[in-house]
Amino acid sequence: MKILFPKFDKIGMPLLSVAVSALFVLEAKRQLRKRTRPKLERLVRNGSVAAVAMPALRLLLVPGMYAAARYAEKNKLGLLSQRHTPQWLRYMAGFLLLDYSNYLWHVLLHKSSLLWRFHNVHHIDLDLDLSTAWRFHIGENVASVPYRGGAVFLLGVPAPLVLVYELLFEGCTAFHHSNMRLPYNLEQKLSNIMVTPRMHGIHHSIVGEETNSNFSIIFSWWDRLHRTFRLNIPQDDIVIGVPSYRDPKEQAPLRLLLMPFEQQRPWKLPNGTVPERHERPHQEWLLP
Ligand SMILES: [Zn+2]
Repeated sequence: MKILFPKFDKIGMPLLSVAVSALFVLEAKRQLRKRTRPKLERLVRNGSVAAVAMPALRLLLVPGMYAAARYAEKNKLGLLSQRHTPQWLRYMAGFLLLDYSNYLWHVLLHKSSLLWRFHNVHHIDLDLDLSTAWRFHIGENVASVPYRGGAVFLLGVPAPLVLVYELLFEGCTAFHHSNMRLPYNLEQKLSNIMVTPRMHGIHHSIVGEETNSNFSIIFSWWDRLHRTFRLNIPQDDIVIGVPSYRDPKEQAPLRLLLMPFEQQRPWKLPNGTVPERHERPHQEWLLP
């Protein structure tokens, strides 16, 4: 199996690092939501969880998806690998369908009680910023390999597209997790096309219906298509996290690594109440 991808590592990754560095500066200068925990503590804790999980992305997921694409291509298997499919169509439809498959994976992470145990580690973060973008349990990253590799195979997307999509996937994940305040008008227009920080902030709310909305990764269209699109929550009203995990002491990296194997708690605040919000009209209107 091919492990080395020189263009990915020598051109793609440095470009991604520049974009992430710019976001890091911008989210510090133009903060969207008030932070509840010290920044250094967040960087150390989320960085530790990410350090364990990230090798699975580069050493398993990327080579696995690339190999799946190559195999489908060689054997003319998969939807877009068929003999007469024009190359431009393979790239364009492939990009869209890859993004759609990741929307479905994200829905599955929330709906399957087994997968949620791992995805919960990402959601119980008490704040949402750039450091959350890589705070995934290694189990979630490993579980994504057969799903995402399988999707690449079934779709029959070109192998180089897998690498390009992955870089944009990571860049967009960094962007929508960031705590950067974009000008409201710009974000309103942008949210018609792609997932933005305010849109994804709603996905990290402690209100259940809000967490179970805005699952998209790059394009926001998949949420519109499945009516899981929700923009009408003001950011100042959002409490980030999961109601049953409010204690900062539980955010220690080792605790987070063990959490999927512990008994899961019901979606309730420590005082026993379930966070709710009165339904507002115009779900698709972005509020500041
Ligand atoms: Zn989620």
